[in-house]
Amino acid sequence: PETKLPKVGTTIFTVMSQLAAEHGAVNLGQGFPDFPVPARLVDALSRAMQAGHNQYSPMTGIPALRQAIADKTGRCYGWKPDVDAEITVTSGATEAIFNAIHAVVRAGEEVIVLDPCYDCYEPAIELAGATAVHVPLDPATFAPDWDAVRAAITPKTRLLMVNSPHNPSGAMFGAADMQALIGLLRGTDILLLSDEVYEHIVFDGARHESALLYPELRERAFVISSFGKTYHCTGWKVGYCIAPPALSAEFRKVHQYNVFCTFNPAQHAFAEMIAQEPEHYETLGAFYQEKRDSFRAQLLKTKLKPLPVPGGYFQLVDYSAVSDLDDLAFARWLTEEHGVTGIPLSPFYAKPPAGQRLLRLCFAKSDETVNRAIERLSKL
Ligand code: PMP
Ligand code: GLN
Repeated sequence: PETKLPKVGTTIFTVMSQLAAEHGAVNLGQGFPDFPVPARLVDALSRAMQAGHNQYSPMTGIPALRQAIADKTGRCYGWKPDVDAEITVTSGATEAIFNAIHAVVRAGEEVIVLDPCYDCYEPAIELAGATAVHVPLDPATFAPDWDAVRAAITPKTRLLMVNSPHNPSGAMFGAADMQALIGLLRGTDILLLSDEVYEHIVFDGARHESALLYPELRERAFVISSFGKTYHCTGWKVGYCIAPPALSAEFRKVHQYNVFCTFNPAQHAFAEMIAQEPEHYETLGAFYQEKRDSFRAQLLKTKLKPLPVPGGYFQLVDYSAVSDLDDLAFARWLTEEHGVTGIPLSPFYAKPPAGQRLLRLCFAKSDETVNRAIERLSKL
């Protein structure tokens, strides 16, 4: 019988991490920090377990964490979601994305995604019996073409998915994009999923254009974030979704029968961390900007050409001065022959642009890791 996900194989992150391990390569592929979690967070987690917070939490998340998320959202975006009706704590952004899609998208409907897009979007859409409609971002700047998005809308369009700061490119929406998005959705009943997992990793004084800043967007949006990115703990898998009461109610119907609730001790730890140490997320942009700048400065010693990185923790490099291999072959070759692993972009596209020679390198790494990678890359 035909499988439900015939196009899906093993994710490129697993493939490249395994290859990196086999070849002892410096792994700048899969996006995860290789430096420690804030000490206070580890301590708070341990205290939460010792205090006995080891059973199911409330289905929507513990009140203290939802309160902390509401307060932080108010501080960051000038609008506070309702603690009880509009915030749901999830097992990572991945669970939230899955829930949001399954809560509102029916079989036969369409979901617009902007390519390249994060690889968990389309399988969740297909499992809902719906179709992903792929609209390419500009291949040079990764900016959206809002006219092309408008042209992709049909009577079957249920949801539009956006992601800023963007994985894999680091591109960010500007205020004009948000106005275009508002104009595009006005008068339609299309819902918005705004993947904002890199919301605090923005550079050069830019403002993160959250959908939560705009009443016309947030009244129809699932806004999703991840503590994995903000607190250097991708393996803890805790995130959340902010959505209006009616959408949150539907979202929770999926969440309660998907996982019911999220790892309880970590919820206590994040509640303490967010409330007691706001400097952590307030200074995260500066923290990563230093890493970005030092990585880019060192890349000048290599033949790889860095593209601009407005946000997030990924650096795209153009490798056309080194090789004419396609990106999948180049990523494999670089790992096997030169001991450095990155992520090719083609798995993030329905149809990769012909002749694109880009690789994604993660700079959420210690100086030692970056130095080892640069030493190897300078021999190319
Ligand atoms: N969306 C984007 C754009 C991401 O980069 C990631 C993580 N790489 C996720 C969602 C998933 O986040 P989480 O690990 O919290 O599930
Ligand atoms: N989000 C991470 C990235 O883009 C990978 C997460 C995963 O391995 N599923 O690299």
